[in-house]
Amino acid sequence: LKEALLLTNDEINKLRNELTDKIKNNSIGAYVEQLTNTDINISGSGIPIAIKDIINVKDWSITCGSNILKGYVSPYDATVITNLRKAGLSPFGRANMDEFAMGSTTDTSCYGKTLNPYDNEKTAGGSSGGSAAAVADGIAVAALGTDTGGSVRQPAAYCGVVGMKPTYGRVSRYGITAYSSSLDQCGPITQNVEDAAILYDIISGHDPMDSTSADVEYEAVAAKLDSNRKLTIAVIDNFVSQASPAIQKGFEKAVKVLEEAGHKIIHKNMLDTDKIVSTYYIIATAEASANLARFDGVRFGNRKGDAGLKDMYTQTKSQGFGPEVQKRIMLGSFVLSSGYYDAYYIKAQKVRHLIKDEYSAIFDEADLILSPVAPTTAPKFGSFKTSLEMYLSDIYTISVNLAGLPAISLPVDKDEDGMPVGLQLIGKAYDEQTVFDGALSLE
Ligand code: GLN
Repeated sequence: LKEALLLTNDEINKLRNELTDKIKNNSIGAYVEQLTNTDINISGSGIPIAIKDIINVKDWSITCGSNILKGYVSPYDATVITNLRKAGLSPFGRANMDEFAMGSTTDTSCYGKTLNPYDNEKTAGGSSGGSAAAVADGIAVAALGTDTGGSVRQPAAYCGVVGMKPTYGRVSRYGITAYSSSLDQCGPITQNVEDAAILYDIISGHDPMDSTSADVEYEAVAAKLDSNRKLTIAVIDNFVSQASPAIQKGFEKAVKVLEEAGHKIIHKNMLDTDKIVSTYYIIATAEASANLARFDGVRFGNRKGDAGLKDMYTQTKSQGFGPEVQKRIMLGSFVLSSGYYDAYYIKAQKVRHLIKDEYSAIFDEADLILSPVAPTTAPKFGSFKTSLEMYLSDIYTISVNLAGLPAISLPVDKDEDGMPVGLQLIGKAYDEQTVFDGALSLE
């Protein structure tokens, strides 16, 4: 991205054409266009950035990987897209994703699955698997994804690229389809840390169109990147001990690299990961059930059923939503229903505060936290036999969203099959500068 920003308009057009040709001969299914045999969506003439199918781009179709939205065309640009255009970048291709960003494998999209460029029998991760695979396979300069519980960081880790989730409120959610409104953040997926900082600067900042956008002072980070800072980095021991041997090996290597770079490592423990998983899946599904209520056949996309209103709702939703989405709407409606609201939803909100407090306590002593991104490297398709097994693979990423913190995932090693091992650095709220600075030591 840094180099692309120096190109002339003619050179950028050449790059767009080269990428378009490359995409035609590529079969990993990173883009919806590859999976549907259609031409790549080109609008404008800037540096090509792949856009997850959950972000509105004016006059483009947006489906969130779901049949329910087929045929819907965006009437406006999301703020992140407006910001891209202002900086000379432009949306290029619809990156594939898990339906409504619910998943960890990018195989629940209505278009079919995205393959991991390192091993086509393995998942690219999810839900922003298309964005990560496109960057990893060199068919996008960079990409935008969204991260509600790891969906930028985890696919980046599985595909060996850099993925960054900003502090909640840093990046406007205006024009980004909501999954879980108190957790969602849009973030960059890039080939290196500096590109992530550049793209982060471009998309960030206060936006009056999003009432949850943070009205705090914003200082650009890319120009001030500093790899010489000496930081205190906490390691969460009970997190690391649950990871696979390949992840633990990568972790040990990374700790050595950080120590050699002059950083101080301290050791901490955190709340049991099973409590974190329960909390996340109550809050995320509760918010999702409210957010997805709008897809009812009346206002957006695909309408089914013609035997009255109830039939239309029933047919539209049962034919339009896939099984994982239906399951989560039911779970979310259940935890919000009277009689269960206090027992589940209110309790989850309380535990969310505890998680936040635990992070705050660690950040009294540390500048950053080093953690795995996922318990294993990219799994084979079909490895998760139940939804619960899949949910348990989110143990390291979701607490970061529950606490609203910034984090960056980057590749640090390979496992014995040559699959990338990614780790994440988590920072204090609004301290993205330190997150990027620390990440430079691991690159
Ligand atoms: N895997 C998590 C989930 O399924 C996270 C998804 C996301 O960040 N969008 O909810």
